Amino acid sequence: MMDLTKDNNLNLKSEASEFFLFESEDDLLKLFDHAESNGKNIQVIGSGTNTIFPRYFSSIVIKSTNNNFTLSKEDGVTKLEVGAAVTWDDLIDFCCSKNLYGLENLAGIPGTVGAAPVQNIGAYGVEISNLIDYVECFDSELKIIKKIKNECCDFAYRKSIFQANTNLIVTAVGLKLQKEFNPVLDHESIQNKLFSNADEMIEEIRKVRNSKIPDPSDFPNLGSFFKNPIITKKETEKNQRLTALKQYEMPNEMVKLSAGEMLDKLSLKGMKIRNVGLSTKHALVLTSNGITAAKDIKYVEDILKTLVQHHYGVELEREPIYL
Ligand SMILES: Cc1cc2nc3c(=O)[nH]c(=O)nc-3n(C[C@H](O)[C@H](O)[C@H](O)COP(=O)(O)OP(=O)(O)OC[C@H]3O[C@@H](n4cnc5c(N)ncnc54)[C@H](O)[C@@H]3O)c2cc1C
Repeated sequence: MMDLTKDNNLNLKSEASEFFLFESEDDLLKLFDHAESNGKNIQVIGSGTNTIFPRYFSSIVIKSTNNNFTLSKEDGVTKLEVGAAVTWDDLIDFCCSKNLYGLENLAGIPGTVGAAPVQNIGAYGVEISNLIDYVECFDSELKIIKKIKNECCDFAYRKSIFQANTNLIVTAVGLKLQKEFNPVLDHESIQNKLFSNADEMIEEIRKVRNSKIPDPSDFPNLGSFFKNPIITKKETEKNQRLTALKQYEMPNEMVKLSAGEMLDKLSLKGMKIRNVGLSTKHALVLTSNGITAAKDIKYVEDILKTLVQHHYGVELEREPIYL
């Protein structure tokens, strides 16, 4: 048995009867062959910062060890291919050291590069889909490695084809980056800031994040537990409880609401049931002390969804994934 308690950010006690690391296409071919001949499924994990682990995995659990960085130039544009196992925040520092720009707003997000396209990570006005050229995957149905171009990944807010198509194992991500530092400062937290270089901006973003999100080493958490609801302007205007909330204009007459503000206004910040609760620092961050299980998280998730549905008439959508 492989203990995966330290491999998930909620510190849930978890074990897998089979766990393997993979680096190459050959490794993946052998692993899927082994799984098929034993009638088992394969579950790929990154660093468990957006996943809720079961007590026991019935699937064979696998994890990438591809830590490669490959720089190239195409038609004057600098391209970077990064292995799935690279820690996301290490990529931020690597790019900064090589004067490659565009990822600054995404500094400080935990997790691996391989998982970044899965939920199209985003923060402070930028999503990874803005910078992805292609995603390199092993297709376990076709048993081939293929590069899926950005426009075929169906990226949207915290969405991509990789969520439903679990036959696609991300092996590397191809990025198109800029040679000039052109900071994106649209987000309210950084709107009026002046940054003379990317280092300064990255440091500030990490500082802002740390001030808002509880430290997972003290309060195990998965960052935002719910997506911010996006609904039509018309729907919002009809509902007084929604008009009282902050609204962020979106294309096509839509508005984004803050799920955190909704929970906060229902006085749920700091609530706790069965060792699962909402952070006192940020109402959107679900925390656990590790002495709990996936079913308790689901229990609290359902209560929160029901309370928001009753009060605001809005259905919250969970961001992390139950494995
Ligand atoms: C404190 C904190 C703050 C956060 N802030 C943000 C934020 O600002 N913005 C944001 O978008 N997210 C945020 N997150 C969520 C999380 O950091 C991201 O979702 C991250 O990309 C998850 O990476 P991981 O390696 O931990 O993935 P895991 O949790 O291990 O996996 C996530 C999903 O990706 C799949 N997956 C993992 N690796 C692969 C692969 N190689 N191929 C195919 N599928 C794979 C898994 O099967 C699973 O479905 C935050 C989380 C925490 C704990």
